[in-house]
Amino acid sequence: MWRTPQAGTDAMAPVLQCPDCGQKHPLENVADTPAFRCRGCGRMLKVPTELLPTAEEPPPPAHFPPRRVPEMRAPASSLPILPRLVRIGIWFVAMPLAFIIVFGFARTFHVFTQRQMENTFLQSGWGRFWPIMRLLPFWALGTTLLVHFSNIGIARWRIARKQGGGRGSGKPSSSQRTRSRSRSRRPPARVAS
Ligand SMILES: [Zn+2]
Repeated sequence: MWRTPQAGTDAMAPVLQCPDCGQKHPLENVADTPAFRCRGCGRMLKVPTELLPTAEEPPPPAHFPPRRVPEMRAPASSLPILPRLVRIGIWFVAMPLAFIIVFGFARTFHVFTQRQMENTFLQSGWGRFWPIMRLLPFWALGTTLLVHFSNIGIARWRIARKQGGGRGSGKPSSSQRTRSRSRSRRPPARVAS
């Protein structure tokens, strides 16, 4: 059905010659198909299996889970580490700020009353420290959270400032804390029946 190429053409690409009409077909052009139609006479010609391209690895099954490409969003851990002085400064600001926030909340929700605060200074005995002691974990937590998010925020701000080309630096003024200490509570209106 097919003939090997003549001697002396070993180095050339294999050629398949039609046994009917003698038309030669270079297998480079038909190597992908196991059979093809002769250009001369139209007879179906089979490509010998040893001349077929080596079977490649079968494609993975369709249900193979596609590999998830990691997202290119920069995580917080990849942000540059702030200078030592800035980090210390953040702690110095965050600790009193967290103290104000925590004790402000405690005062607002009557967890820590005015009398308890006075007792801390005026009374004796270890029991007077308990109202403050139980708030210390919240103070520590608030400080840690403030420091954490300040580090991230300042690091991002520095990156943005570097990329933005030194536009107006929006420095947050620390004097914005307006504390309305004396919030008079109005007694609920009583409906006369
Ligand atoms: Zn032919």
